[in-house]
Amino acid sequence: MEIVSADVAIVGAGGAGLRAAIAIAQSDPSLKVALISKVYPMRSHTVAAEGGAAGVIRAEDSLEHHFNDTVSGGDWLTDQDAVELFIEDAPRQLTQLEHWGCPWSRTPEGRVNTRPFGGMKIERTWFAADKSGFHILHTLFQTSIQFESIERYDEFYATDLIVEDGHCRGVVAIEMRSGRVFLFHAKSVIVASGGAGRIFPFTTNGAIKTGDGMAMAYRIGVPLKDMEFVQYHPTGLPGTGILLTEGCRGEGGIMVNKDGYRYLQDYGLGPPDPWPRKKAMELGPRDRLSQAFWHEQQKGNCVSTTYGDAVLLDMRHLGEKKINERLPFVRDLASSYMGKDPVHEPVPVRPVVHYMMGGIHTNIDAATPIPGLFAAGECACVSINGANRLGSNSLTELLVFGQRAGLGAAEVARQVADGTPAGVETQGREAEARILGLFDREDVGESVAGVRNAMTASMEEGAGIYRTEEAMQATCDLIGQLRERVAKVPVKDKSKVFNTDLMGVLELEAMLDISQTVVHSAIVRKESRGSHQRLDFEKRDDEAFLKHSLATYRGADVPEISYCDVVITKSQPAERLYGGAAEAAAKEAKEGGSGEGKAA
Ligand SMILES: Cc1cc2nc3c(=O)[nH]c(=O)nc-3n(C[C@H](O)[C@H](O)[C@H](O)COP(=O)(O)OP(=O)(O)OC[C@H]3O[C@@H](n4cnc5c(N)ncnc54)[C@H](O)[C@@H]3O)c2cc1C
Repeated sequence: MEIVSADVAIVGAGGAGLRAAIAIAQSDPSLKVALISKVYPMRSHTVAAEGGAAGVIRAEDSLEHHFNDTVSGGDWLTDQDAVELFIEDAPRQLTQLEHWGCPWSRTPEGRVNTRPFGGMKIERTWFAADKSGFHILHTLFQTSIQFESIERYDEFYATDLIVEDGHCRGVVAIEMRSGRVFLFHAKSVIVASGGAGRIFPFTTNGAIKTGDGMAMAYRIGVPLKDMEFVQYHPTGLPGTGILLTEGCRGEGGIMVNKDGYRYLQDYGLGPPDPWPRKKAMELGPRDRLSQAFWHEQQKGNCVSTTYGDAVLLDMRHLGEKKINERLPFVRDLASSYMGKDPVHEPVPVRPVVHYMMGGIHTNIDAATPIPGLFAAGECACVSINGANRLGSNSLTELLVFGQRAGLGAAEVARQVADGTPAGVETQGREAEARILGLFDREDVGESVAGVRNAMTASMEEGAGIYRTEEAMQATCDLIGQLRERVAKVPVKDKSKVFNTDLMGVLELEAMLDISQTVVHSAIVRKESRGSHQRLDFEKRDDEAFLKHSLATYRGADVPEISYCDVVITKSQPAERLYGGAAEAAAKEAKEGGSGEGKAA
C-alpha cells in the first residue's frame, strides 16, 4: 500500500471538488491538497450541464424572488437559512467565474444575458450557449492548475473513508492504471463525488454517477438525508436518456401531446400565455411536468416511439437563427440521436431520472456530523433543494457550498497536529485486504450486469414518478436480496491495469446501498411532496412530514430511518401555485394584505 500525506483530501474533481480545492489554495497556499478523481477532471458530470446557473442579476429580480422560487419549488422541505445564504452568495460566485474567464453569453449591450428556467418566476439563469457546464468546469479546472499546492490524482477510484478517534483522517483509493492501493492520510476530507442517477435504468447521468462518495460516507455512519426525493427531468431523449436542457423551454419551446395539444394547461400550469412566454406552462417545475407526462400516458395521449411512449417538444417557431445561437448542442443531439432536427420537426421526449435531491447530511457550512468530514455538490444535502430542485440552482450550489467546504476543511486542517495516528494505517491495510479479497471470490453464477439490471428495473418500478406501498415494498425486498447477491459477484478479470470488472463490483455495492436508502426512506414517508408522489397518500402532510428523513447505515440490515427538523426562517408552508393560479393569488395578496408564502 502506498501512503500519501496531504492536509486536505478531496474525493471528486467536478464543479464542487474543484471549487473547494481553489478555495483552500487561495486561503492558505501552505496546505497540501490531494484532489482524487475517478476520471480526468474535465470528464466529470458537470461538463454535461447545458442550461445554466441561477443567480439574481436583473433589475426586475430580487433575492427575495429567488428565495421564494427555491423554497416553494422545493415544496417547503428546503432549509431556509441555507437558501438565504445560497441566493445571496450566488451572484458573487457567478461573477467570480466571469473573472476567472467563464464566457457567459451576452445581451447585445454586452451585459451578462439570462434565460428563463423552470419554476423560476423571473429569469435569472446565466448561461454560456447550451454548454454552460463545459465552460464552468473548464474555467474552474484552468484556475485550479495555477496552484502548486493542489496535487491531482486522476483516475484514482476511492473506496473508503477512514475515521480514527472520531475524526475523518483519510481516504483509500485504487490507482486504476496500476491497480495499486493508496492510503491518502489527511487532516480533513471533502467528498464531492456527485450524484447517483445510475441506480435507475433511464437517466441523464453519466456512467460514473454511481453514488460512491455517498455510500462511503454512509458506511462510516453519516446519515443520508432526504434520499426519497429523486428528480425526473421532463425532457430526455427516449432510448438514450440524453437530456434536452430546460433551456429549450426557457427559449420558448412548447410541449404537446399526440394531438398537438399543449396538455400542461390541464395540470394547474396554464393558461398558455402569449408569446414571448415567460411564465409557467412549459416553465413549470420539473416534478409537475414529469407527473403531467405520467397522466398523459395513462390517458393514451402519447406518441409511440421505438423506445416507448413520448410527448413532443416543439421548437420550430424559434427559427433556425435562434436555435443555432442559443441551442446549438440541442440541435446536434436531437439530430444525431433521434434523427429529428428541431428546426424542422418536433422532438419526442419523456421524463428521465436526472438528479438526487438527497445526499450526505451536512450543515450550512458543508460539514457532516463526523468531525473533519465535509461534503458538497450533488452528493451532499445541505438542503437548498428540498423535495424538488429548480433547474440551474445546482451549478450555483457547487460553487457556493464547494467554497464553504474548502474553507471549512482548511480551517480544520490547520488545527490538527502533524503525523499519522497508527490506527489510520491499520484501517488502510484492512481496506486494501478487502479489495484484494474480491479477486478470491468463487464464481457461483452471479454477474455485475445481472444484479445491476435487476436493481435498476426494480428502482423504476418501486421508486419512479408515482409510487405505491406495494411496489415500494417489492423493491425494498428485492434490493435486500440483491445486497446479498452482490457479495457473491466475482471479479473475473484478474489483471491489475484498468480493471473495469473490479470497479463494476465496487460501484454496484455502492449503488445497492444508495438504492436501499431511497426506497426505505420513500416507503415510510406517507405523503406526497415534490418529487415524492404516492398514489396511496396523495396529499402533502405538513403535520407529520415537514421533516428531513435521515437514513442511517445498519450493515447487512436495512437502514434505520429517523427525521430532523426543517429550518423555516420566513416562509411558512403554503400551496404551490404556478401559472394563472399563482398570478391570481399574488394579486389577491397585494390587494388584501399579507398572503405571505402564498404563490411564492
Ligand atoms: C446532462 C445534465 C445536465 C445538467 N444541466 C444542469 C444545468 O443546466 N444547470 C444546473 O444547475 N444543473 C445541471 N445539472 C446538474 C449538475 O450538472 C450536477 O448536479 C453537478 O454538475 C454535479 O457536480 P458535482 O461537482 O457535485 O459532481 P460531478 O461533476 O458529477 O463530479 C463528481 C466527481 O467525483 C468523482 N468521483 C465520483 N466517485 C468517485 C470515486 N469513487 N473515486 C474518486 N472520484 C470519484 C468523479 O470523478 C468526478 O470528478 C445537469 C446534470 C446533467 C446530468
